[in-house]
Amino acid sequence: MYCFALHIVALVSNGYDNMKCIIHDNATLSWWLIKKMQNIDKMNIWHPFTVQKQYQDNVNIVSGDGAILVDQDGHEYIDLVSSWWCNLHGHSNKEIAEAIYSQAQNLEHVIFAGYTHNPAISLTDNILHHMPTTLNRVFFSDNGSTSVEVAMKVAFQYHRNLGDNRRDRFIAFNGGYHGDTFGAMSVSAQSGYHNLFAPMLCKCEYFDYPYITDKNVGNIAEIENEILHQLDVYLSKNSNYVVGLIIEPIIQGASGMRICRPEFIDRLLHLCRSHNIITICDEIMVGFYRTGQMFAVDHLSEYPDIICLSKGLTGGFLPLGMTIVSDYIYAAFYSSDINKTFLHGHTYTGNPISCAAANKSYEILMRDITKESIIHLSNFIKDNFVLLGIIPFVTNIRSFGCIGAFDITKPELVNDIIAKLKAKGLLMRPLCGTTLYWMPPYCITNEQLNQSFSVLTDTLKMFV
Ligand SMILES: *Cc1c(COP(=O)(O)O)cnc(C)c1O
Repeated sequence: MYCFALHIVALVSNGYDNMKCIIHDNATLSWWLIKKMQNIDKMNIWHPFTVQKQYQDNVNIVSGDGAILVDQDGHEYIDLVSSWWCNLHGHSNKEIAEAIYSQAQNLEHVIFAGYTHNPAISLTDNILHHMPTTLNRVFFSDNGSTSVEVAMKVAFQYHRNLGDNRRDRFIAFNGGYHGDTFGAMSVSAQSGYHNLFAPMLCKCEYFDYPYITDKNVGNIAEIENEILHQLDVYLSKNSNYVVGLIIEPIIQGASGMRICRPEFIDRLLHLCRSHNIITICDEIMVGFYRTGQMFAVDHLSEYPDIICLSKGLTGGFLPLGMTIVSDYIYAAFYSSDINKTFLHGHTYTGNPISCAAANKSYEILMRDITKESIIHLSNFIKDNFVLLGIIPFVTNIRSFGCIGAFDITKPELVNDIIAKLKAKGLLMRPLCGTTLYWMPPYCITNEQLNQSFSVLTDTLKMFV
């Protein structure tokens, strides 16, 4: 009776304090409270990348364990997208949770100018261990977009610091996605996400990304040659006006898991070097073994001048960005002149708790058992995704490392397919309205993989 009365109070008053009071009063949420929470979500929260007028009740996730997420009704979902590509070792990983807890008890944050701390130093050491000796200067920030902003601003100021004031544009790729802030949008304008903002963006020249499809696979080498030729022609005339080039190495994520050949990226970096163009590889999605190697650039023989990291950096626990800069670029900032200083920083730069999570995630990543899971996962995807070819509306089946994707030739089916998969406990989310993909955490079990694949196959068959 007492409980029931409190629920009524909460419903009627719309007061947050009353609601908290009920949560303390009764750990299991009542129907009333669930409705109330749902209503706040609907009326007061603006969700990302969401068509607001098509609002459907969001699934309220209350816990996670490994590759599994659990909603408030107790339904389980296998997280096949690593919660936007960041989770590596599973949800609520105990070791990372412990590392965060003990760091928080010791030092939660400290100003990163004039002060430093061991979690950031260790993380720098861990990551640079995988870089050539020339890529050795790390700038910390908060997320993927900020790591790209830092890369772009460093590249721009590098030329100014050397007295070269002509350079006013970047080179990027059609379909490339580097984040949602203004600088990042300026080099992602052809990704389909940012068209509206075109008048507000800085200058950028776009070239095609030679991603492989069923149709072009036979002449992909010619397509690559043509793009490199066009770029060579452009640079021969305009290289003095170019700040730098940015690319997602091997896989363009947001525009639909579009895969190109590593050879192309290698030749591209080589071409840029011959024209003295700064190259930036955005490894925000592909880093940390998504491609089967620690970094996508590990598939290459050339290295870029700047690398951007985020997403998997903390194992998916906390936001953190890292921009790794070559020593020759840093040298242009090494001066006692304030005008040559990189006057940039975010409040939470190098946050110790994020760094502690990243260090623990790194430690787990380096274990043999994790490497074995990564190999198993990439083999599973490679061997099984091709079997989806029996479904008439499935095309362009592709995979690289731990990422598998395919396109649906009947886009009108995609929302219904995703809804069915969700009802059957698979968390998948389409890209660009036609691409479905998997990028699960490495800890996903063989049983979960088999179950996911049979649910996926059965569901697709229902729509034939
Ligand atoms: C997600 C992503 C970004 C942006 O990262 P945020 O943390 O979302 O700002 C940039 N580049 C690539 C390749 C990404 O996948």
